Amino acid sequence: MKFAVRSIAVASLAMCAFGAFAQKGETVKIAWIDPLSGLMAPVGNNQLKSFQFFAEKYNKINPAGVKFEVIGFDNKLSPAESLNALKAATDQGIRYITQGNGPGLAGALLVGASVAKGLALALNKPVLGIHHLEGHLLSPLLAERANIQFPFVALLVSGGHTQLMKVTGVGEYELLGETLDDAAGEAFDKTAKLLGLSYPGGPAVSALAVQGNSEAHQFPRPMKHSGDLDFSFAGLKTAVLTQVKKIQSSHDLSESEKADIAKGFVDAIVEVLVSKSMAALKQTGLKTLVVAGGVGANQQLRASLEAACAKQSYTVHYPPLHLCTDNGAMIAFAGAMRLKKNPQLASKDWGFDVRPRWPLDQLV
Ligand code: ATP
Ligand code: MG
Ligand code: FE
Repeated sequence: MKFAVRSIAVASLAMCAFGAFAQKGETVKIAWIDPLSGLMAPVGNNQLKSFQFFAEKYNKINPAGVKFEVIGFDNKLSPAESLNALKAATDQGIRYITQGNGPGLAGALLVGASVAKGLALALNKPVLGIHHLEGHLLSPLLAERANIQFPFVALLVSGGHTQLMKVTGVGEYELLGETLDDAAGEAFDKTAKLLGLSYPGGPAVSALAVQGNSEAHQFPRPMKHSGDLDFSFAGLKTAVLTQVKKIQSSHDLSESEKADIAKGFVDAIVEVLVSKSMAALKQTGLKTLVVAGGVGANQQLRASLEAACAKQSYTVHYPPLHLCTDNGAMIAFAGAMRLKKNPQLASKDWGFDVRPRWPLDQLV
């Protein structure tokens, strides 16, 4: 009987490290913060000890001798390692637990919420639900020596979203434009599938495109001249599909044909993203662009934005590469920024309030 009870506790803690903000069954992470230990330092001075660092080191060092500002854990940790890490984190005097509270699939959000609230209850800590996209949006501020001043234009290009936003401060987000159909990351993933690559397709398509020839295919640049800041990528996907089918009607795609298609696709999507970002900067009169979300890891996008911004004397910022896609640190950091503004936001309320649908402009 004793053993059974103990197992339940272990399972619930282990899930914490595995369920904080799972979406689509891929990356599953959690983070929590200690706002007293330095994270609240001015932007540009944020020290971040990554979950990799902690995972690699926690059992080789004296945890008491190490000062962590942000600690996140991911599913690279085994349940036993997670438990040890959780204990060490608790010993560090962690004050708050933050968790991705939406938007996303209700089932995945509930797993994260149950674990976060369960952990908070067990440790008697206040908990704060964070908007997943706010996590992405503020992640560039985590870059070492980032010196990003509000206001700025944010290009959020993730697996489920493509949005341009005017960001005036923490929690002050105005939507300027967004995709009418597929998200940029989704377009990468669907193109990858057509080329026989596995999910998530962004990195694979990007790597393939480097070897491709830009002259081989001229895919459409949807809505490039629409005059607004909205996007549409469904037509681009169809154009890629048509081309793939055309080749496949005579033979299987060769590696170089795949690379050419990948290159044509990346050229098209990058051109539209750059052009709309420049239009957003012009329209708002702002001079700073911040890129967030998984597609922000794309090197061609970074190089093209860099070049376009340099021409206009704009500056562009990105998150560190490993923080572009979903991660625990961004949820911890967004929580830290919010708690800095208002520590009352976190509460010892153990009821679930996940929000599968949650527009970013409806933050409280
Ligand atoms: P959302 O945040 O909108 O709910 P998500 O969490 O699935 O969606 P992210 O984790 O920000 O999205 O990013 C994942 C997406 O980024 C995937 O679609 C993936 O293909 C894409 N991606 C990752 N690396 C690259 C890259 N180097 N180039 C292009 N796309 C990339
Ligand atoms: Mg995700
Ligand atoms: Fe995401």
